[in-house]
Amino acid sequence: MYSHIAYLVLGTNLGNRNKNLSNARLEINGLPQTRILKKSKIFKSPAYGPIKQPFFFNLALEVETELLPLELLDHFQQIEKRLKREKDSHMKPRTIDIDIVFFDNEKIETSRLKIPHYDWKNRDFFIKPLREINCQAEEFKNLKFA
Ligand code: ADP
Ligand code: MG
Repeated sequence: MYSHIAYLVLGTNLGNRNKNLSNARLEINGLPQTRILKKSKIFKSPAYGPIKQPFFFNLALEVETELLPLELLDHFQQIEKRLKREKDSHMKPRTIDIDIVFFDNEKIETSRLKIPHYDWKNRDFFIKPLREINCQAEEFKNLKFA
């Protein structure tokens, strides 16, 4: 049985943020052939971007899965929908956002999916939780931390 390691970062800044994160974790752990191996603590950061909005809660997960990256994305988008994220919520408050940061050491560049996540190096709220769970992705380990 071949398994993959994916690193995810979850974010939420709407509603009961602790509850949103634990609901999402439960759903992710319940996906077929998928289980969470590690979870970071919750990191809080002010939202950035043009709209004033509440603090984000973020956490990172290390996940073992037999699913392929696009299958994972499909599941995560269904979970986001179930947790009632508004469809057009890019850069706006959202109940839950699930981003795939790394998938093994694969590089993927399609219209639906870019892995490693296109902006991970610029996001402290990705780097800090990933560092806490000792992310093993080569690209992450190669980053020279200031
Ligand atoms: P953001 O995460 O930047 O706030 P969204 O969550 O609304 O924005 O995602 C917009 C689109 O990003 C999704 O429809 C998805 O197809 C695409 N996407 C590209 N790469 C990734 C990735 N690595 N993880 C999750 N979504 C991704
Ligand atoms: Mg997203």
